[in-house]
Amino acid sequence: MSNARTLPTLAYGEFSRRVHASATSAHRVTNAQLELTYRCNLHCRHCYTDPYNQKDWIAQELSWREIIRLIDDMAEIGILWLNLTGGEVFQHPRFWEIYEHAYRRGFLLQLYTNGTLFTEAIVTRLRSQPPFTIDISCHSVDEASFDWFTQVPGSFRAFRRGLELLRKADLPFTLKTKGMNWNRQELPEIKGFVESFGQPFSITTSLSPRLDGDLSSLSYRMAPPDVARLELDAMGGSPAEEACRAATKLLQQPTNQLYRCGCGTNTIHINARGELGTCTFQYERRYSLKTYSLRDAIERLFGDIRSFHYESDSPCRTCTLQSFCDKKPSEARWECGDPESPIPYNCDVALVRAEVRTQQRLLHPLRTSEHHNLPESASHPKHDRQLAVRTTV
Ligand code: SF4
Ligand code: SF4
Repeated sequence: MSNARTLPTLAYGEFSRRVHASATSAHRVTNAQLELTYRCNLHCRHCYTDPYNQKDWIAQELSWREIIRLIDDMAEIGILWLNLTGGEVFQHPRFWEIYEHAYRRGFLLQLYTNGTLFTEAIVTRLRSQPPFTIDISCHSVDEASFDWFTQVPGSFRAFRRGLELLRKADLPFTLKTKGMNWNRQELPEIKGFVESFGQPFSITTSLSPRLDGDLSSLSYRMAPPDVARLELDAMGGSPAEEACRAATKLLQQPTNQLYRCGCGTNTIHINARGELGTCTFQYERRYSLKTYSLRDAIERLFGDIRSFHYESDSPCRTCTLQSFCDKKPSEARWECGDPESPIPYNCDVALVRAEVRTQQRLLHPLRTSEHHNLPESASHPKHDRQLAVRTTV
């Protein structure tokens, strides 16, 4: 009789939940997003990073050696999930050396790609060392609209070809959709298309200013009532009483912490220039990994982020809709001139979301009696401003 003991197994979802829960409470980093490059073959109209798809920015990217060193540092501090993104990852001239190094270091690898560059050779190579998942944006299934949005003729056909190659190769991929004003009417078709790959339809609606301060990407935002309708669709109609009660509990008295999201807990973001942040859109404090070690930079950054509090009497400070709100401080700086400022669009969306979820009429955070004296930036988003104030240490 064999004495061999079998290792206990755990479903992936439960494993991930347990690791993230313990890492979050211990402020241990388990997830990293690494932007490999600003290069991209597309020029999507909403893209926050496309303005850097230029020679002078590409020249500032981390070298291949610096990226490899960073990957080793990430493995050493116990990061498990590594997301490689861009730009477009397959446009990095040494993508495969980076990918295969990260694969050998044992990360659960997630690739973000626009899906238009897959070839037989690429999928064969990926099959031999498969990523944990490949995330591909799918904002339209209409050829003319897709190509209009990416500003590259032929991109839709390349995208379709890429998906078929992945399907044939049985590689794990996920389609994700950004709901915008121009594709609102097309969402049922996009949903059908995504489901034809046996995947659940997943949609988000928040758009961000471009990293150079250009606000033109925000002109594609979906109208708040449409966001509310999407919320209702996602819930399969009005929520049950118990769900309303749970949502009502979220209307709690907020803390005055500037970062109320997961920033500064278990995730890091490194841009293509090697600046460490807590997420793609956190630019209130960055540490250059050309100056600091990864471990040191994380310690400093997380301490800073957790110490940031509202100091003004911004409506955000006491807002009860914060759990329903997508506001990010750096976006508030770019859009309204101040990281503490409310973003009027986010207020509108938070209100409709909260009303749908709680089934109650609620007060708009910028129109309550105590907020008569709103700062100009709160009531009038300055879409003509070019603000890209950054603090990189
Ligand atoms: S594919 Fe991605 S990185 Fe490239 S332009 Fe579109 S959104 Fe930007
Ligand atoms: S942006 Fe508006 S909804 Fe969001 S926390 Fe600030 S005041 Fe509240």
